[in-house]
Amino acid sequence: MSTFQAPKGTYDLTPPRSAKFLAVRAAISGPLKNSGYGYIETPGFEDVALFARGVGESTDIVSKEMYAFETKGGDKLALRPEGTASVLRAALEANLHKAGNLPVKLWYSGSYYRYERPQAGRYRHFSQVGAEAIGTEDPALDAELIILADQAYRSLGLTRFRILLNSLGDKECRPVYREALQTFLRDLDLDEETRRRIEINPLRVLDDKRADVQKQLGGAPMLRDYLCDACKAYHEEVRNLLTAAGVVYEDDEKLVRGLDYYTRTTFEFVHDGLGSQSAVGGGGRYDGLSEMIGGPALPSVGWALGVDRTVLALEAEGVELDIPATTSVYAVPLGEEARRVLFGLVTELRRAGVATDFAFGGRGLKGAMKSANRSGARFTIVAGERDLAEGTVQLKDMESGEQQAVALDELVAVVRARTA
Ligand code: AMP
Repeated sequence: MSTFQAPKGTYDLTPPRSAKFLAVRAAISGPLKNSGYGYIETPGFEDVALFARGVGESTDIVSKEMYAFETKGGDKLALRPEGTASVLRAALEANLHKAGNLPVKLWYSGSYYRYERPQAGRYRHFSQVGAEAIGTEDPALDAELIILADQAYRSLGLTRFRILLNSLGDKECRPVYREALQTFLRDLDLDEETRRRIEINPLRVLDDKRADVQKQLGGAPMLRDYLCDACKAYHEEVRNLLTAAGVVYEDDEKLVRGLDYYTRTTFEFVHDGLGSQSAVGGGGRYDGLSEMIGGPALPSVGWALGVDRTVLALEAEGVELDIPATTSVYAVPLGEEARRVLFGLVTELRRAGVATDFAFGGRGLKGAMKSANRSGARFTIVAGERDLAEGTVQLKDMESGEQQAVALDELVAVVRARTA
């Protein structure tokens, strides 16, 4: 242990567990790459106003959890707390929406930062893979994204997740509902902070987890009863397409999510093995966001799946990912001359595409064989003076225990054939 530790609310990814994170990122991005989504990468920080305007001044994410700071040059920046606002900003800046090919479909993977109270599954630095489909209003696009996330989780072997689905209405019907909800909430017995929330973000009150609040919400007006005909028809079509695709979901009228930009379709993926931080991913439609950040009208939809929580979900279900050993061959030299020869062979094997490692540091045979075992390599190559004098090395199959002498100049071909 050094004098330093990872900052509060963060943790390091170290082998072997880190391999799971790579596998999860690959599993989530795979279906996206296979469906016309191009890779996008944006900076880890942005103008703080982008999030204030995009995500919403009244949200917890912006008002309480953002790592905002001023640079020495006087710029007001923030570490990104989420991906959508940045990706849309970047797409607009690069004029991707003007290339004539809508929707612009993008996927991303990266680190996000929120100053939250750390607990199991909730960190101040976490990792997401996300997808955004920009510039098209089409229920099939909303359905596509939900289907692709479902496919990603299933490909990992997860089964205990559920999809919660709701519609938040649009700029026609939501304001009418908002007012009706405010009128209802103002009559309840609530603390000061919640009363303030009624005025700035009343839908979030529905999301309050406290039992005494939930108890009072029994007769609250429901958005479902206020949806305009266009929103209703749109939502019905999303639901039908999901059902046709065999994707099971639950209607959840109380699902509002913590970001202001959502309109119409909203959804969350929850996992039942995770305790209170059960959301493994979420997203929805954000038809007004582009205009909110100064762009043209570009109805869009997207999601972000949490990599950290997906790994926790895998562990909760006891799913063992099929992660191949990183090393196929481990070389153990006995003596100085053998070190030189074997190190040369290791380089040749690697150039031939065989994952190979070497017993560095001149340890004895016993220690080196222990490392060979630990590496998970299927084969070891051992050579001492006598082998070299005969122009051979010993190739040992670690599974069967069989050992054979192989000529130096045939080794690469033999190993390639046996590891193929
Ligand atoms: P959100 O943007 O809040 O909908 O987050 C999308 C997903 O990112 C969530 O479903 C989580 O899986 C993950 N996530 C969000 N915040 C955190 C956090 N503080 N720690 C770990 N994962 C998080």
